Amino acid sequence: MKEVRLENVTKSYDGVTLAIPGINLVCARGEMLALLGPSGCGKSTTLKMIAGIEPISDGAIFFDDTDVSDLDTASRNVAMVFEDYALYPHLSVFDNIAFPLSIRGKPKAEITERVERVMKLLGLREISGEQVQQLSGGAQQRVSIGRALVREPDLIMFDEPLSHLDSDQKVQLRTEIKRLQQTSKLTSVLVTHDQNEAISMADRIAVMDKGVLQQVDTPSAIYNQP
Ligand code: ADP
Ligand code: ADP
Repeated sequence: MKEVRLENVTKSYDGVTLAIPGINLVCARGEMLALLGPSGCGKSTTLKMIAGIEPISDGAIFFDDTDVSDLDTASRNVAMVFEDYALYPHLSVFDNIAFPLSIRGKPKAEITERVERVMKLLGLREISGEQVQQLSGGAQQRVSIGRALVREPDLIMFDEPLSHLDSDQKVQLRTEIKRLQQTSKLTSVLVTHDQNEAISMADRIAVMDKGVLQQVDTPSAIYNQP
């Protein structure tokens, strides 16, 4: 896991207007930082620039001391967890988690060892052979977190990870993600429009509006929560 740092990063999609007029932001190693704000405020743009899916227009992005600004997404070790899980529905839990390693041609013994370790961490061993389409949304999202972790990424991005879950599963999974993030010291960026989600999961919250950071601080400092 690494520290992620944005220095004076700007983004214009059309070369004229600035979707992000200039952002300075650090996600410390082992920290969960939430990007919180309404639709259109620039959360996805920021996430895509960190992941290397969208090029930045100016400034620089660092992973620890490495300037990754010019690296494409395949050359950055960033794992993503999406709201719609993005799993292969007919493949087993095991094979979905193994996928990022299989396509990189890792040896079979290494794949089994790493997938087993991740399944254990996420309580998925009993259902390792089940097709993911048979599972609840919460279990599917745990599989997609497993697929993210198995790469041993520098950073994990959670993009609205709880939006498709019912309220019971939301509470359960957010507790689970938080526990995992703390025990495994995952450098994590959480993108959400849900204030309660940000407060309950993040170490710090970056409140965004119209492409600008309004405030970056702990939940308790921002919302006077105990
Ligand atoms: P959020 O994720 O918070 O909903 P976005 O990052 O998607 O916000 O959008 C920030 C701004 O950038 C918005 O004004 C949006 O219309 C604009 N935008 C996002 N993606 C594109 C794109 N591919 N082309 C042009 N403008 C875009
Ligand atoms: P072989 O094909 O040499 O017998 P394996 O028995 O390791 O190899 O794997 C057979 C299939 O079962 C593969 O698709 C593999 O990804 C999958 N698999 C391996 N271990 C597990 C496990 N613990 N749970 C579920 N599926 C597994």
